[in-house]
Amino acid sequence: MLVVLKPESTAEHRDQVLRCLDEMELRGYVVDGARPMLVEVLGINGHFDRVRLEQSPMVDRLVDRDQPVLAAGREEGDQTQVVPLGAHASLGSRRIGVIAGPCSVESEDQILRIAAGAKEAGAGGLRGGAFKPRTSPYSFQGHEEQGLAFLAKAREQTGLAIVTEVLSCEHVDLVSQYADVLQVGSRNMHHTPLLTAVGRQSKPVLLKRGWSATLEEFLFAAEYIMLQGNRNVILCERGIRTHEKYVRNTLALAVVPEVKRISNLPIIVDPSHGTGQPHLVAPMSNAAVACGADGLLIEVHHDPSRAWTDRHQTLDIAQFQSLMRGLEPFAEAAGRGL
Ligand code: PEP
Ligand code: MN
Repeated sequence: MLVVLKPESTAEHRDQVLRCLDEMELRGYVVDGARPMLVEVLGINGHFDRVRLEQSPMVDRLVDRDQPVLAAGREEGDQTQVVPLGAHASLGSRRIGVIAGPCSVESEDQILRIAAGAKEAGAGGLRGGAFKPRTSPYSFQGHEEQGLAFLAKAREQTGLAIVTEVLSCEHVDLVSQYADVLQVGSRNMHHTPLLTAVGRQSKPVLLKRGWSATLEEFLFAAEYIMLQGNRNVILCERGIRTHEKYVRNTLALAVVPEVKRISNLPIIVDPSHGTGQPHLVAPMSNAAVACGADGLLIEVHHDPSRAWTDRHQTLDIAQFQSLMRGLEPFAEAAGRGL
């Protein structure tokens, strides 16, 4: 049970709530940094008096455990929140935002070539990994700051917004100096100190769903970020692990309309990791847009056969251009534009 204080409440009002709980023989946990202030009621017992708390002058409302989405929740009539994607694009508006690029930044020449192709095809963002979360410690881990500098050069040349992953708390400042949007990857969706750290900086955050996370856990991860004051969170469905073998992950598209129902955060879909199969990327992009996704994240490389990472799921530039053309009728049918 959470006690939500009115926005104008002061520390004195919060202490009154704590005293009131004390009189009911309950403990209150003050949620650090929350605005409006929040107090969780610990160890509910027979002395708990809901009406008394609700009637306290500075208490706005009480929220039960089964309605947990506070910051990211959709109230009746709410529009999807629009999150900037660099200076020239956004996610959550009528226009579908497409972010494209290689799994890893390999060289300056590679990222500039891909950026030019992505821009020409109509992407609004360039995504490339400079810090790579690899399964094996023996695999390429990314060019780190040099990779970030190559991405910044690609932005200078194309105007595309830069999206790149931050893997650890110690790199948040560095990555936010270069990126327009910080990606928190699937492996780190449960890493609450990292969520808190990206919530304390001002760049938008692209939060990928953990591959075994429930929707509730996904939204709570977004709440961790928003609680620190950063409301610019973009959710990204990238598939979950199932017993299925013909795809790398199972793309759980029903999450898109469900997120739209309960949250006002924009949600995009990554059909590259979500299927792991290049021939499935365009059909699942169409399906994502048709069911209400605000954007797409697609792995593209000028020569996928030579890509250093994720080459089996990566589109070449011509395939990406054709995907973008094919998307138009689906965007139109969903009342959106590209
Ligand atoms: C990626 O975006 O390249 C990536 C590693 O994705 P995920 O975190 O979804 O596995
Ligand atoms: Mn990848």
